[in-house]
Amino acid sequence: MSNGINWYQADLRELKFVLLEQFRYGEIAGRAPFEAWGVEEATAVLEETYRFAREVLGPLNTSGDREGCRLEGGQVITPKGFKDAWRKLYETGFKTVSVRPEHGGQGAPHALQCLIEEILSGANPAFNMYPGLAFGAAELIAECGTAAQVRRYVEKMYNGHWGGTMCLTEPQAGSDVGAAKTIAIKNGDGTYRIRGTKIFISGGDHDLAENIIHLVLARAEDAPAGTKGLSLFIVPKKRINPDGSAGQSNDVQVGSIEHKMGINGSATCVLNFGDNDQCIGELVGGVENAGMSQMFRMMNGARIAVAVQGLGVLSTAYLNALAYAKERKQGAHFKFWKDPNRPRVAIVEHPDVRRMLLEMKAVTEGIRALLVKLTTHLDRSRQLAGVDDPKATYHRGQVELLTPIVKSYSSDAAFRLSAQAIQVYGGAGYLKDHPVEQCCRDAKIFSIYEGTNHIQAMDLVGRKLGQAGGAHFQDFMRDIGEFVAQHRANPRYGSAVEALAAAQESIMQSAMVFFGWSQSDKLHLIPLNANRFLSLMSELAIGWLLLDAALIAETALESLPATHSDRPFYEGKRWSALWFARNVLPDVEHGAKLIAAEDSSPVEIPLEAFSTH
Ligand SMILES: Cc1cc2nc3c(=O)[nH]c(=O)nc-3n(C[C@H](O)[C@H](O)[C@H](O)COP(=O)(O)OP(=O)(O)OC[C@H]3O[C@@H](n4cnc5c(N)ncnc54)[C@H](O)[C@@H]3O)c2cc1C
Repeated sequence: MSNGINWYQADLRELKFVLLEQFRYGEIAGRAPFEAWGVEEATAVLEETYRFAREVLGPLNTSGDREGCRLEGGQVITPKGFKDAWRKLYETGFKTVSVRPEHGGQGAPHALQCLIEEILSGANPAFNMYPGLAFGAAELIAECGTAAQVRRYVEKMYNGHWGGTMCLTEPQAGSDVGAAKTIAIKNGDGTYRIRGTKIFISGGDHDLAENIIHLVLARAEDAPAGTKGLSLFIVPKKRINPDGSAGQSNDVQVGSIEHKMGINGSATCVLNFGDNDQCIGELVGGVENAGMSQMFRMMNGARIAVAVQGLGVLSTAYLNALAYAKERKQGAHFKFWKDPNRPRVAIVEHPDVRRMLLEMKAVTEGIRALLVKLTTHLDRSRQLAGVDDPKATYHRGQVELLTPIVKSYSSDAAFRLSAQAIQVYGGAGYLKDHPVEQCCRDAKIFSIYEGTNHIQAMDLVGRKLGQAGGAHFQDFMRDIGEFVAQHRANPRYGSAVEALAAAQESIMQSAMVFFGWSQSDKLHLIPLNANRFLSLMSELAIGWLLLDAALIAETALESLPATHSDRPFYEGKRWSALWFARNVLPDVEHGAKLIAAEDSSPVEIPLEAFSTH
């Protein structure tokens, strides 16, 4: 039984490479508004986070999964050890690294927080949901709340005194958020009485913090139907006393907790608001009917956070599969596989196992690069606002464009490649004695919550491609075009760069195909092909960033002596990029052809023809 064992491991060398060498953290670090956060500080906090993750969170991952959460007397009890881990986590300050100093934070770049979150989620994704949601809810109130709301809630939520949730989903309102029926009735003193049921609420209740601040989408009386009529309310579990402390119950009841496939340490709750008509909420920012745009602030951050969760779990699955493959002996070397007298070799010597591992390595590194790129765009946009506004707008636009891409690609890859990690282990991987079956179960939800991956794909093709007159998409393509022009003659990477150029051309053509459909009576082809297009865009982005990393690694290799311990690491970068360019980038051209073929079978097949049962 693996309870209490730490399975977590990270490749810190790789994390530092992406942050410091590929995305040149040194250029933004140590300058306003990130004055206190130079390269040394960043490196130190990553090392400390890793130590904490291995010692505190990793050992609670399996036990939290086995024990799950339970409901006792209306209160959710989290798995053994979670409460202590919560306290210790907030003592370290890791959750406030990128929080602005005016909210009690440390003012570091988001790119650094992104890697801290990768480590925390990679060690224990279920646990990290609780502080993650508190962080996101605090961020929303910090951005959209009134000055009094910011004072009352934000710092306490950032520092772990209070938790937080986002409450959108109702039984009849999942992807269709606008169908929400929860209502808000004016009290006449500026507050509202909230009534309704929300389902699937992550961290909807727990025993980790003194209070929980729910952000609840509800409809005020006489508000219009659909998303336009939704307002966002701050609804504490316990009412806030005049001195700011948590007071009496606010009539928020936990109906039940769900029994799920994965992230079992994270309580997914049915919450009943106002069963006794005593649930008081206040409007975020004091504005009615602005709920969806306010919630989108949190959802954009949460979509990036889900991609980070995917990366964390995928990295854990990969590194454990790699370690196992080096240990497990089975069969002779493939050149002598029929000779029973040959010594057994570790399975990592078998070509097919190496193929699986190299795919996992390349995709993990590619997603990490994409996430650090995205968060660096966020940091640079902040740094350049008011200094070079057109540049700041460019960076902001890339964040918009890349968010649905990284959310979907990372979440799908985490599940698919965690399943592949099980395959690397063979039968042992299917057992609970090893961590990869849990990785696979935990990862499945990532493609569903925070907007299913189809919702992400529609966001990409329906909004982001044409946003700002298509500027974000064109900027992205221009960046890749410049890279291709600069490196297509490279002796080692020339053909890989050509594969990138061909993939880019295919994406351009597909984008035109989508545009054509939007102007025609073939609108059904847009949702039919959106997911495929998003996958192809992701592969283009990942292929580009892996090649970029490989070229940086080549430069480093040129100056390293033959015996230097960093050489294998940099050589690994070469193989990730070449494998991806040779085995995945050609799929983009093929996928674009399938898009252009305009197959409508899924909407043409009569419903009755799916099955005659
Ligand atoms: C473990 C867990 C934690 C969660 N945490 C939270 C949380 O903290 N807060 C919260 O508010 N919610 C949370 N959710 C809810 C989650 O966000 C929803 O499950 C998700 O948005 C999908 O909604 P649904 O389950 O009702 O599926 P549905 O909306 O019924 O979708 C079912 C399928 O139909 C597709 N579909 C739906 N509508 C369309 C359409 N118009 N066009 C094309 N396809 C469509 C979907 O893509 C999906 O494949 C959580 C869910 C789980 C399981």
